[in-house]
Amino acid sequence: MLIYEYKLDGNTQQYAAIDEAIRIVQFIRNKCIRKWMDGRGVTRLDLQCYCAVLAQEYSFAACLNSQARQASADRAWAAIARFYEHCRNKKPGKKGYPRFQHDSRSVEYKQTGWRIGPGGKHITFTDGCGIGCLRLVGNKKQSVETFPVKEIKRVRIVKRADGYYCQFAVQAERKLEHPPTNRALGIDVGLKSYYTDSDGKTVANPRYFRKAEQRLKRLHRQLSRKQKGSANRRRARKQLAKAYLKVSRQREDFARKTANALVSSRDFLAYEDLQIRNLVRNRHLSKAISDASWGTFLQWVKYYGSLHKIPVIAVPPQFTSQDCSACGTRVKKSLSVRTHICPACGLILDRDENAALNILYAGLTILFLMACAGTVGQTGTSEDAENASGQPAATRLSRKRKTGKRAG
Ligand SMILES: [Zn+2]
Repeated sequence: MLIYEYKLDGNTQQYAAIDEAIRIVQFIRNKCIRKWMDGRGVTRLDLQCYCAVLAQEYSFAACLNSQARQASADRAWAAIARFYEHCRNKKPGKKGYPRFQHDSRSVEYKQTGWRIGPGGKHITFTDGCGIGCLRLVGNKKQSVETFPVKEIKRVRIVKRADGYYCQFAVQAERKLEHPPTNRALGIDVGLKSYYTDSDGKTVANPRYFRKAEQRLKRLHRQLSRKQKGSANRRRARKQLAKAYLKVSRQREDFARKTANALVSSRDFLAYEDLQIRNLVRNRHLSKAISDASWGTFLQWVKYYGSLHKIPVIAVPPQFTSQDCSACGTRVKKSLSVRTHICPACGLILDRDENAALNILYAGLTILFLMACAGTVGQTGTSEDAENASGQPAATRLSRKRKTGKRAG
């Protein structure tokens, strides 16, 4: 699936109509959750049928396109299914019992209820919500209208702090050529630097939140001074939301670009499989960790890995920073010790680079074991096995590198 996103340009009345459509979606979703809570053994199909009942009972619900109503029921079912799955897998901690929503931000249409105008400059929503015709504002290079309408599976209107956006989910594969580079890399994500790789290169952490913090603090202060329910307060809230949106976009953009650069220049990548949720619980570091946005970054690395069809492997995080990357001796060190000094073989290396090398070797070992077990190239064994396509060149490369390090 490819997602094309445009900003929507319309008038106040049309935006109000979108808001109304979003409210209907939320209403249907919450009604479905209520039905599931009250009855035993409610299935996905029951909820789908329930949409039609709701449309008969509530005249405003009938305004929304029938497939969009079903999409809202699917949304409710997604929350229920997630809860069931967590229970089945005995997920530690909270299981995520479905809750009622009060701040929905989007409405999703399937393949009816909308029409793209000729030339792809406009979209018209044809259901009873009265959204009408909106102008699509976007990058000139992206052209969703070139796809046959049949391939556009979903159209979603999303409300953000700075306006309304339209997303098209297109059933198409992105094709990419990955010229072989014969280079393998391990990366260690950190707080001091965004990541350190096994070649000893570091990428500085942009710390967008830290930079915006002063401004955010001021906006928070301004908001708290405004009278509840006043127009001034609404304006202040909007400004604050926009400032946060900017930070999140900066993070996302940086993570995506860095990941793309990383994947397109390598044939193999290994990273540490961090339990970010556990790390964020550390009160002193949580802000810095969230600001580093490893989760987003690693997700993009995995995504580009699958796109370029190169193996990207998650390595269990045990002892990656403690062990010596040259001889394997475990050298205990606290977080504040920045240099790895090995008493056994005399290797002196930056702490993070040492960790990145360990991650690279562990990743190559996993790849090798997967190749032996014959899982490489097959799908369904694990998330990472999906991306793996077997790169013997990378393994050879690492052996050479390893001996080189030991000599130095
Ligand atoms: Zn050593």
